[in-house]
Amino acid sequence: MTDTLYEALPLAAPIQRALAEKGYTHPSPIQAKAIPVLLQGRDLLACAQTGTGKTAAFALPILDQFASNPRKPFRRGVRCLILTPTRELAVQVMQSFETYGKYINLRIGMVFGGVSEKPQIKNLFQGLDVCVATTGRLLDLHQQGHVDLSQVETLILDEADRMLDMGFIRDIRKIAAAIPQNRQTLLFSATMAPEITKLANNLMNDPAEIRIAPQGTTAEKIDQGVLFVDKGNKQNLLIELLKNRKEAHRSELSLVFSRTKHGAKNLAKKLNSIGIEADSIHGNKSQAARQKTLDLFKQGRIPVLVATDVAARGIDVKNITLVINFDLPMESDAYVHRIGRTARAGESGKALSFCSLEEVALLREVEKLIKKKVPVDSDHAHHAEAIQALHESGARVEKPKNGGGGQRRGGGSGGQRRGGQARSRKGGNPGGPRAGSRRNSGGGNNTSGGGNGSSSVSNRPQRRNAGRRKTSNP
Ligand code: AMP
Repeated sequence: MTDTLYEALPLAAPIQRALAEKGYTHPSPIQAKAIPVLLQGRDLLACAQTGTGKTAAFALPILDQFASNPRKPFRRGVRCLILTPTRELAVQVMQSFETYGKYINLRIGMVFGGVSEKPQIKNLFQGLDVCVATTGRLLDLHQQGHVDLSQVETLILDEADRMLDMGFIRDIRKIAAAIPQNRQTLLFSATMAPEITKLANNLMNDPAEIRIAPQGTTAEKIDQGVLFVDKGNKQNLLIELLKNRKEAHRSELSLVFSRTKHGAKNLAKKLNSIGIEADSIHGNKSQAARQKTLDLFKQGRIPVLVATDVAARGIDVKNITLVINFDLPMESDAYVHRIGRTARAGESGKALSFCSLEEVALLREVEKLIKKKVPVDSDHAHHAEAIQALHESGARVEKPKNGGGGQRRGGGSGGQRRGGQARSRKGGNPGGPRAGSRRNSGGGNNTSGGGNGSSSVSNRPQRRNAGRRKTSNP
């Protein structure tokens, strides 16, 4: 947090009241920088990690406009449109608007796929001050004439890097084209990849630029570590870690990332079967079921949540003190997003990554992005050793299989669908399998090493270059 006091910022009294109630006394760095710029009505290009308070950074100035300029939105009209990559993030953003805008008379609504469109159409009919939407459903409703985008005063792209990753660039362009050019445009992204800058140049008018952390830098307060473990022993290592944690950190939450939907589901099932309460969220679950699980997790009634990347994207839960990358992500950017689920709101947290022989190259890519080495986790190395001892007798080092476990880019979960169909686009298919879209972690038969009789679990990478190549799956 900064030294400035919220009271010193020129925000309308109803907003100050809601902030005081929420216990926010000082703006976070992104808030301190963005709020004054946005109150002037400028466009903004902001590079900020998750957990930095970016939602309030854009929500507060928008709410201030509504407080000082109250007018009823036109029928089917939207005054502020926020685009998010996932339904979960949409819910999160809407909840923030509701919290900070508690004392302002506002109409807030959401538009996203995977649920009936009727209530959304009804809500839009009366007009909305704030509409939080995913792109596919919004375009559908726009094409059907249920939403009038010509009234939009402010367009916000939240987690724009993720939207591009998921292949929504054309949707974004179509939506932006339907909005008047004299709008205010805000773009928030965790990384400032060249495509983001290009998009910003197309959509924005002389934006102010704010970078809260250098590209790809992970939150400083997150204690990161890696444990090298054979693929076949990851489950045992996870159980060992969570069992010990159950004793020591009863009230704290753990978030485990799995690369595939099935992996997430099976892991949660396995944990439950041995007495560790867990549930999963992934794209095969209905929106309602995902939200219910998230709520139970937030309340601490489920201490362990296993999630895929896309489904976990909007998770903003304060007590997550441990993030475990059961599988390393195919895209190194996702690592930053994943571990950003801990150490929220200035608290500290731990992020442990399990790295198998096949994943060493992925770990190196992560290290290149965050510009530092992830150290072997000394606190938990003994767990890895315990697993090693357990398995020594029957130790079996699996050769990397062709296909690297069938991982798909984009986590294969939870993204929006349009017209009930999984979209087939470059950069991932969040809704389901897509022919020809697989990228494996390498480690195909060309890099077959590892079958050398070495132990199942080690604290060192056994083979540095294994899995370096990204190839398409046969
Ligand atoms: P975000 O990066 O917007 O997802 O926010 C991360 C977390 O920080 C959320 O739980 C917010 O409620 C919390 N937060 C945001 N701004 C502040 C603030 N100024 N003081 C304390 N907590 C905050």
